[in-house]
Amino acid sequence: MNDIPETFGSAVFNDEKMRERLPKEIYESLKKTAESGARLEASIADVVAEKMKEWACEMGATHYTHWFQPMTNITAEKHDSFITPVKGSDRIIMEFRGKELSYGEPDASSLPNGGLRATFEARGYTAWDPSSYAFVKDGTLFIPSVFISYSGEALDKKTPLLRSVQALGKQVSRILALFHNASGTTATPTVGAEQEYFLIDKEVYLKRPDLVTCGRTLFGAPPAKGQELHDHYFGAIKPRVKAFMADLDRELWKLGVLAKTKHNEAAPSQHELAPLFTGANVATDHNQLTMSVMRTIAEKHGLVCLLHEKPFKGVNGSGKHNNWSLLSDTGVNLLAPGETPSENAQFLLFLTAIIKAVDDHQDLLRMSVATASNDHRLGANEAPPAIISVSLGEELTDLLSALEKNATYHGKEKVQIEIGADILPKIPKDTTDRNRTSPFAFTGNKFEFRMPGSSLSVSGPNIVLNTIVAEALDDFATKLEHSENFSADLNKLIRETIVLHKRIIFNGDGYSKSWEEEAEKRGLLNLKTTADALPCFIKEKSRKLFEKYGVFTEAEIYSRYQILLESYSTTVDIEALTIADMVKRNILPAAEAYENELCDIILKKRDILGEESVRTEKTVLERTSSLAENLTGLLGDLEKKVAYSKGLTGLPQAIYCKEEILPTMAEIREVIDSLERIVDAAFWRFPTYNDLLYSVN
Ligand code: ADP
Ligand code: MG
Repeated sequence: MNDIPETFGSAVFNDEKMRERLPKEIYESLKKTAESGARLEASIADVVAEKMKEWACEMGATHYTHWFQPMTNITAEKHDSFITPVKGSDRIIMEFRGKELSYGEPDASSLPNGGLRATFEARGYTAWDPSSYAFVKDGTLFIPSVFISYSGEALDKKTPLLRSVQALGKQVSRILALFHNASGTTATPTVGAEQEYFLIDKEVYLKRPDLVTCGRTLFGAPPAKGQELHDHYFGAIKPRVKAFMADLDRELWKLGVLAKTKHNEAAPSQHELAPLFTGANVATDHNQLTMSVMRTIAEKHGLVCLLHEKPFKGVNGSGKHNNWSLLSDTGVNLLAPGETPSENAQFLLFLTAIIKAVDDHQDLLRMSVATASNDHRLGANEAPPAIISVSLGEELTDLLSALEKNATYHGKEKVQIEIGADILPKIPKDTTDRNRTSPFAFTGNKFEFRMPGSSLSVSGPNIVLNTIVAEALDDFATKLEHSENFSADLNKLIRETIVLHKRIIFNGDGYSKSWEEEAEKRGLLNLKTTADALPCFIKEKSRKLFEKYGVFTEAEIYSRYQILLESYSTTVDIEALTIADMVKRNILPAAEAYENELCDIILKKRDILGEESVRTEKTVLERTSSLAENLTGLLGDLEKKVAYSKGLTGLPQAIYCKEEILPTMAEIREVIDSLERIVDAAFWRFPTYNDLLYSVN
């Protein structure tokens, strides 16, 4: 017998506990607030805070924290204890007031704000998001919160996500009102974020300053065995990893995270965890929690969890597939082909709206996953290309094509389809999921956005998805709401949308060179790096979109743009300084020591055995010293370039990093990797790829 059903959610102040512990009218009122997104009344907040504290103390909590998501990809917290002195005595009580539950003022002046808090008054504050449950972790009550400035600007990743969920819900309601079927009156986006990660031994990890500082190796010759044998993917899980996974599941279940699937991934030491999907807001919180718990549990097992997109060159990188759909208030998945003509017409409307949205805003979707670390993954041959396209599977594509041409659909049965009058031919789910190379794939009843990187908060991609789909639905609703002949107009709209946007549909091999050429012919964007992708954020088209749906103000867009640029350039600069340091203090000295050793050997051997006997040593010596010399030169270049980059800001700095620093780092890497292959292991001071990738047994 196990106790998982009892354990699940045991550390969460969830609906069941609120219902149990809160007076009925308080519970009802809190629920309404959570659903409407309105402010919580002070009198209600006081009662909720008291009951929440009681429960948290029973769970062993001594502290509370507002838990928020600043403009980094991790979460922030500041712990305060519940203790309050009792007046006129030496005693304390555990106290938690409504005010403390509702608002916090973290001293967050060091968090990125892109100039939004430039003035001294514009300090940020946090506010409880009652639509995501509070929970107890490591003796602290965590209160999921938004983080905003006093003038109301979002300083975080949760606020705009909540706004985008609302904007989308509004437009879905208008569409559902056109159909009068059983699909409900509104919907929320649902998200299931599959998380990939690497696990390596902590002792080996600590010997690599590049991993410790940058999360990825900046050099390392390929191991004799990479993933060529395909023996890791879905392979048997090693005992130490199994123990980690078991602990991880247990901890996540306690926190109410629906951890479901775990398996080995393609690269050695790479694994994946997939949860069951939930609403976009909670799914984002849960993914943050998952990443953080992964790190802590790994430590307990003497391991380190690497969430970087590309810790090792030459083997698969890590992504975070963002599965996305729309769930109606009556529990209907709006992206599942339906059973009746009306439901099917509605399905096709949502499907084509999404196709239109993705085509219209390819650049924003690309931008939403653009980071210095993800650039090493996208466009490499194991990850989706930097080109956005939609794969629908053959059947659905044929169906759309038949609709477009008003022709007969040659599926299993030959049929002519009149949208709204006919039932769609059944599209078997498994035929939509064959293409693993597509960045945005329809997988039967949801879309899977495969471009987000493993360390990214899924907030960004979902903000963009929600907003662009809201816009497409808005456009459709406006066209159909006053229609005199709904069925005819709907058919026309769907047909026109297919004609206008079919260029984005691609079911072929997204990793192939020919697709890049074909995509260019189709006029699709290919924004290869973060420096290329970010500027679209501040284009007038994007600003209008986000402002129209109340997701970002203009000031918020500019500040975020600055933060993203800065984060890119800073990441590259830090990597450059790290490699420079490793080269100077370890790699060149190792090469020199080896050269000295070779000289000694040559001198001794030559005396006894003659010139001919030291031919090999001499060749190695020459090669080593020539590589070391080359490396010294490149190091000088790199240091100059980093110094120059530090004098730049914004886009010019990002472009400089991309065009000057990264290529020099790549050159340096090649030289180091060549050195690693010839320098005697006794002199090489860093663990190799073999040591790192096979460190866990
Ligand atoms: P697949 O076989 O296509 O990978 P799975 O059923 O294994 O699909 O699901 C993969 C991920 O997609 C899981 O995290 C799952 O929860 C999520 N998912 C499934 N259905 C939905 C949905 N309607 N909305 C959002 N995510 C979903
Ligand atoms: Mg997947």
